[in-house]
Amino acid sequence: MKILKNGTIIDGSGKTRTKADILLEGQKITDIGNFPSVDAEEIDCTNLCIIPGIVDIHSHSDLESLQHRSEKIKQGVTSEVVGNCGFSLFPSKPNLKNMLPAFEIFDTDPTQKWDDADAYFSDLDSKKSYTNIASLTGQGTLRAFVKGAKSGAMDPQETINACKILAKCLEQGSVGISTGLNEVPSAYADLEELITLAEIVHEKGGLYTSHLRDYKFRFLEAVEEALEIGRRTGIPVQLSHLQAVGQKNWHKIDLVLELIEKAELEGVDVEMDAYPYLAGSCKLTQSLPGWSLEGGTAELIRRLNNPQIRKRIAEDTEEDRSNTWKDVVVSNVSMEREMIGKNIQEIADICGQDGIQTALDLLLKNNGSVHVVSFNQSEDNLKKVLTHPLTSIITDGLHHEGIPHPRTFGTYPTFFGEYVREKKWMTLEEAVRKTTALPAQRFKLEKRGMIKVGYWADILIFSPEEIGTESNYMKPDVPPVGINHVIVNGEWELFEGSLTGKQTGIALKNS
Ligand SMILES: [Zn+2]
Repeated sequence: MKILKNGTIIDGSGKTRTKADILLEGQKITDIGNFPSVDAEEIDCTNLCIIPGIVDIHSHSDLESLQHRSEKIKQGVTSEVVGNCGFSLFPSKPNLKNMLPAFEIFDTDPTQKWDDADAYFSDLDSKKSYTNIASLTGQGTLRAFVKGAKSGAMDPQETINACKILAKCLEQGSVGISTGLNEVPSAYADLEELITLAEIVHEKGGLYTSHLRDYKFRFLEAVEEALEIGRRTGIPVQLSHLQAVGQKNWHKIDLVLELIEKAELEGVDVEMDAYPYLAGSCKLTQSLPGWSLEGGTAELIRRLNNPQIRKRIAEDTEEDRSNTWKDVVVSNVSMEREMIGKNIQEIADICGQDGIQTALDLLLKNNGSVHVVSFNQSEDNLKKVLTHPLTSIITDGLHHEGIPHPRTFGTYPTFFGEYVREKKWMTLEEAVRKTTALPAQRFKLEKRGMIKVGYWADILIFSPEEIGTESNYMKPDVPPVGINHVIVNGEWELFEGSLTGKQTGIALKNS
């Protein structure tokens, strides 16, 4: 038995904080009140906040969780949803990452494969994990599994296969489907194909999450497409990392929030999520036209080596660009690693050529694999989205070599320290709701995301005066400060700021 004494409880519901003791027995919260004489392991929480463990519903930790990486637990995350943006590790074949540059985010052993959700969940449970993990089924992965890297609609047999595998993964506990519609092969699906899949997911009680088809010049149309899927199937729709990319598109955020609110009034079950940063992170291939990636990495390289096709790729990329090459910083490459940390305009100036040719050369030299951090949002917009009552806060934080985006290490300390304590964008109670109960309820993570009797003992204890981080774009890999203790399923995972190594996280399956 554990007793958390004298802390300030913010329970996740949005209600005003209270002072009480919390009693934990086994894996659950068993009582909240005043217990002067209980025989239990006692932790003094004077001057500290006790909140539910953070629920990161867009974490991309598919592999990181299997590899025992600790970036998320150190921020106070106790449950994560993986399989985001169209990519899950299942259903997969060996050599996933050689099929398409997009899968390179899963830098896996090329012989590895996960046939279905069960294979992934058993791997998680046998290897142990710091956090609890729920997983979406990635529509990109699913499509690649049945159709490879080919464009065009799925034929009737491929559709039957895709539906069958999807239904199986959902029955095994996958919480829904994710799309990554600005990246192939996910992008090859049209609205009808997405509706066919969404109907199956809705039947099984899952939700539809979408990295939209466009966050730039066709942002409104992309949001409309996602809402239409909700309207036609009734499925809950989650708009992933909502933002307007590039100065030319910043004004669209108001129109998008209006569209969302209107749809909600009409009865569409829609919510969204966002990370608290002005820059995003992706692979440079995401800037290229979809047609240039058809057939996979080898085909892209072949096209880049053909001067005429390369010219077309350059023109199409330039036409769709919404920020400058100065805004795009190389965060990882395997060749010419001295380029890491430089922006593409800087590299172009060194090479004496323009930005687009430099970008394409980087892709050629690195076999299509270039990670970038891209500065493309305004603070006004960030405030509008983060403070919107339907927005959950996410990391979207993937670990990779080089200089990964700081969100991987510091999302929640930045959110609570910079945006809540310093800039006062919202109350601490609302901030806690957006990081715990709201996301947990959205993904139906049963009895998680609140401090409540009978709930799982997933708990974060932190100092509201100190929580924060020095992690930044040039030096991201810095642990947070002000995080005192993290409890997962009733066990200390972080005690007095140090990892205990217990790793009591479990696979969270939709039932
Ligand atoms: Zn995404």
